[in-house]
Amino acid sequence: MTRSWQEWLVRQISLAGDFDERILNAFLKVPREVFSEFHYDLDVVYSDNVIVTAKDGNSYSTSSQPSLMALFMSVVGLREGMKVLEIGSGTGYNACVMAHVVGEDGLVVGIESNQRFFKRSVEVASKLGIENVIFVNGDGFYGYEKLSPYDAIVITVAVDKVSQHWVDQLKIGGRIVGPIDVYTIDRQPAFVFEKTSDSLVAKHLVETKFIKAGGLLGNLNETNLERLSKIEKRFSTPVEFLSIPVGSYEAVGVFHLASWSLCEKSGWIYFVEDEGFARWKGGWEVFGKMELIKRIAEEWAKTGFTPMMLLRFRYDHRMNFERLERWDET
Ligand code: SAH
Repeated sequence: MTRSWQEWLVRQISLAGDFDERILNAFLKVPREVFSEFHYDLDVVYSDNVIVTAKDGNSYSTSSQPSLMALFMSVVGLREGMKVLEIGSGTGYNACVMAHVVGEDGLVVGIESNQRFFKRSVEVASKLGIENVIFVNGDGFYGYEKLSPYDAIVITVAVDKVSQHWVDQLKIGGRIVGPIDVYTIDRQPAFVFEKTSDSLVAKHLVETKFIKAGGLLGNLNETNLERLSKIEKRFSTPVEFLSIPVGSYEAVGVFHLASWSLCEKSGWIYFVEDEGFARWKGGWEVFGKMELIKRIAEEWAKTGFTPMMLLRFRYDHRMNFERLERWDET
């Protein structure tokens, strides 16, 4: 009975993209309803939609849209024998599906910060007899060094930033995929980050809507506000205006992704550096000494102010900004 519903789900996933047989087959092997503490009819469980799987006070866990899970697996090149880290494993559905993709010779490590959701993931995986998945209860920010290096990292919660620990724990040539919470423009574009021998290169994948991460993966705005409060009083008059010839939405998004230095205060968007700050007014009103913001503006100008979706963001292994390139340039 469940099997035909799973086949129906796989048909819907196939309509959304051209996925590897192994990825599609994995969805046939894992029942979805057992990961939810709420009851849904099977036509809801096996529709290509998000379902809320668990609640703890004001915290929720949701099982992502299956075709988006398939897309994430696909873009990191998930295949047999791989070791993959999942951030925000919730009650474990995605991790268990991935466990079937990587097979007996592979391993899935899922990290979940909520203890109740974590416990359910452990119980369900053991009930289903899935042995190549390990769940860890903790803040995903730290990754899981003990079992590193990973071939791929899949993030299933909207994070403020790519953690340094993930970059360190990823193999060269490996990829990270996940939604980035660009809180300054209230968007959660998913990006793919590829680690090369000397850099991390990010490309936009698709627009998404995920649960926002808590803990150390959800505090960047506060961290940048703190940096701002240290420097703000030192300057009262702007030294220059950095004009940016595109709409606010697009511009703020690019500066956000390139720098991870933006924050919001009383309706204004700020870009913070150690010796100065800038305030967005349809261009940047600059106070004090700003270097990074100027480098990003120059790099972006060189691309002809290409939209965020068509840019490649290049960082070093410490996630410091290096370059912007258009996708179609190599
Ligand atoms: N991948 C899961 C569900 C993801 S929902 C599935 O297939 O069902 C996102 C999960 O991320 C939630 O369970 C939430 O508790 C968790 N989360 C939020 N912030 C986190 C953090 N800092 N570290 C680890 N997990 C986090």
